[in-house]
Amino acid sequence: MSNDPAHGRPPAPPGHGAAPAPAVGPEAHVLVGNADLFVNWSRKSSLWYLLFATACCGIELMQAGASRYDLDRFGAVFRATPRQSDLMLVAGTITHKMADRVKRLYDQMPEPKYVIAMGSCANTGGPFYKDSYCVVKGVDLLIPVDVYIPGCPPRPEALIDGILRLQKIIMKKKNVYGAKA
Ligand code: SF4
Repeated sequence: MSNDPAHGRPPAPPGHGAAPAPAVGPEAHVLVGNADLFVNWSRKSSLWYLLFATACCGIELMQAGASRYDLDRFGAVFRATPRQSDLMLVAGTITHKMADRVKRLYDQMPEPKYVIAMGSCANTGGPFYKDSYCVVKGVDLLIPVDVYIPGCPPRPEALIDGILRLQKIIMKKKNVYGAKA
């Protein structure tokens, strides 16, 4: 039975009339930790990739997006503009003449953004590593790369494996609690 008919609960003991302080202990951390999980899950489940096929690896990239391998089921859909993309899939040879464009497209993507280097050419210059005056020896000389996929060319299964590896990396990111300023 209540002692305080106005509010339906007993009066506060003397000296404890103020509202309780907000939780700042482990309870608060659980809440923020879940926020990180939710943000990361949302990001890894909606990887919109910029189509950036410059050579033969691009054929395998197209295969991966078609109905047989169906990249869409991992939340990865292609966009034709960097402004709507959070993943750059570099599939093919990058020449020095193309280098400025690669950097510009990367800069036009909103944060957070990720890069997958698909195939030997994007990784290291591939078969053009030696004796080529015009090929960049790896796209990571221009922009940061999160996942490397070896092969000349890699099969669609290898690209799917790369997407799954990137998703694992994204799930470990700190966005709220413990995030770097
Ligand atoms: S890695 Fe091989 S298949 Fe891919 S772009 Fe280079 S030469 Fe072509």
